[in-house]
Amino acid sequence: LKLNDANLPQLVKAAAAPLTVPTYTRGGSVKQGIVHIGVGGFHRAHFAYYMNQLMEKHGLADYAICGVGLQPWDSTMRDALAGQDYLYTVVERSAKGSAAHVIGSIQNFLFAPENREAVIAKMAHPDTHIVSLTITESGYFYNEHTHELQSDDPAIQHDLDPANADTPNTTFGFLYAALVRRRAAGLKPFTVLSCDNMHRNGSITRSMLETFAKLRGDADVAAWIAEKVAFPNSMVDRITPQTAPADKVALSETFGVEDAWPVVTEPFMQWVIEDRFSDGRPPLEKVGVQVVADVLDVEQFEKHKLRLLNGSHSAIGYPGQLAGFSYVHEVMNHPDFHKFVWQMMQEEVKPLLPAIEGVDIDAYCHTLVERFENPTIMDQLPRICLGGSGKIPKFIMPSIAEAIWVTAPFRRLCFVAAAWFHYVNGVDDNGNKFEVDDPMREELQEKAAEGGTNPRALLSIGTLFGDDLRNDERFIRELTTALELIKKDGILKTLPKYLD
Ligand code: NAD
Repeated sequence: LKLNDANLPQLVKAAAAPLTVPTYTRGGSVKQGIVHIGVGGFHRAHFAYYMNQLMEKHGLADYAICGVGLQPWDSTMRDALAGQDYLYTVVERSAKGSAAHVIGSIQNFLFAPENREAVIAKMAHPDTHIVSLTITESGYFYNEHTHELQSDDPAIQHDLDPANADTPNTTFGFLYAALVRRRAAGLKPFTVLSCDNMHRNGSITRSMLETFAKLRGDADVAAWIAEKVAFPNSMVDRITPQTAPADKVALSETFGVEDAWPVVTEPFMQWVIEDRFSDGRPPLEKVGVQVVADVLDVEQFEKHKLRLLNGSHSAIGYPGQLAGFSYVHEVMNHPDFHKFVWQMMQEEVKPLLPAIEGVDIDAYCHTLVERFENPTIMDQLPRICLGGSGKIPKFIMPSIAEAIWVTAPFRRLCFVAAAWFHYVNGVDDNGNKFEVDDPMREELQEKAAEGGTNPRALLSIGTLFGDDLRNDERFIRELTTALELIKKDGILKTLPKYLD
C-alpha cells in the first residue's frame, strides 16, 4: 500500500510485522518551528526521528520540520516526500530483527533552486525558531588549515555580492538573508543548529557565518548576529548507510509499505547537545537527548565518539577494503580484524580518553563492537572510507600525537594510518582498482607514489599533519614498518603481527 496520510490506518492493519505510524495531527494548526537544510538519510533517522517521538508521546505541536534542499539533486528527495505527504519510513535493523516506524515530523519541503524567496521567507517567519543543518563538511566552506571561511570560493563570492542578496546559493547566504529580515521585523534570531559530524560543529558554523556577515559589509547586522544568534555544539550518532534499492523492496515485502525513499538505520542513537538556543527549543531531554550545560561536556562525549567509533571505522574501512571486503560487518566477522579493533580501542585509544561521569567506557566499547557487527544494516566500506583526508587527521592522528606525548603504545594506530597511506593508491591486495573518493586525491596519490614505503612524502602535507608527527622518529619508524609490511604481504598476512 502506498505511503500517505490517508492510508496510515490501513497500513497498520495490513502490516505483516509491527509498524508504528503517527497518530498525532499533522498540518493544520501545527506550526513548523524547525527549518532543516540537507534532508538526507541521517537527518531523517536522527533529528526528525527524535521530533517524531516528541510529537507522538508528548503532543508537541509547534516544532514540525520544513525540509530545505539547496543542491540541484535535492529535487529527487522533494518529489519522493511530496508524493507521500512528507511521510517516510525509518527501518531499524539489528540481528534481533527489524522494526519500522513511519515518521511524520517533516511536514513540508522547499527546493531552493526553484524558489529561493520561499526559503528565505520560511526562515524569517515568526514560527521558525531553529534552522538546523546536515550539509556535509563541504557545506561549511571551512578551511581546516587556517580555520577560516573559504571566502574566495565562487559560491561564497556570489552570495557576498549585495546584488545577489535575495538569490543566494549557499547555506550562509540563506541564513544571512533570513536573519537580516528577522532583525528588520524585530524578531528574535533563530538558533543555527549544526548536526554535522565535525569537532565543535556549532563553533565552526558561528565563525563561518560571522565572517560571512562581516564580509557582507553591514557592521550592524554582523554585530547583531555575533551577539544574538546561538550556535549550540552537538555530538550526533546513529549509523545510517545510503538507502539501497533492495531496502525499498524489503520494506514492501516485510511491512507492506510502498515508500519512495525509506531510511535504514541501527537501533542505537545518541545526541549530546549544548543547551544554548536563541529563541526557545523543544524539550529534547524527554526523548533521551542529553542536553548539557557546558560546551566542554559536549567535547568530552565527542572525543570518545571520534576516537572510538570513527577511529575504529577507519581501522575497519581502509584495511578492510584493501583486504577485499565490502561491508563493515564482514570485516568484523574476520577473527583477526575483530581482535585488532578491540585491542586498538582498549590498549591504545581508551587510555588517552577523559573519564566522563556516568559513562562506562568499556560498556561503550562493547556496544560499538555490537553495532559494527550488525549484519543487517549493510554499511558500505566506501561510505566509511569516503574523504579519508578529512578523517585520518581527525580520528587516528590525534590519538597518535597524544601517545607520542605521553610515551604510550601506538603500533595499531600506525597500522591504520599506514593502511590509509597505501589505500590512497586505489588498488587493493588482490590487484583490483577502486575509486578513491577524496577532494585531495590527486595530491595524495602523487605523494604516495613519490614516497613508496617512505611515509615522509605524505606526512609533508602541511594541511593534514603537524610537526609533532613529522618530527617524531619513533612514529616514523612504526609507520614505515607497517607500510612496508602492508605493501609486501598485504593486510591479512600483516594483521596477526599487530595482535597480542
Ligand atoms: P546524504 O548524502 O543522505 O545527505 C546529504 C545532504 O546534504 C543532502 O541533502 C545534500 O543535498 C546536502 N548537502 C550536501 N552538500 C551540501 C552543501 N554544500 N550545501 C547544502 N547542502 C548540502 O548524507 P547523510 O548520511 O544524511 O549525511 C549527512 C551528514 O550527516 C554527514 O556529512 C555527517 O556530517 C552527518 N552524519 C551522518 C551520519 C551517518 O551515519 N550517515 C552519522 C552522523 C552524522
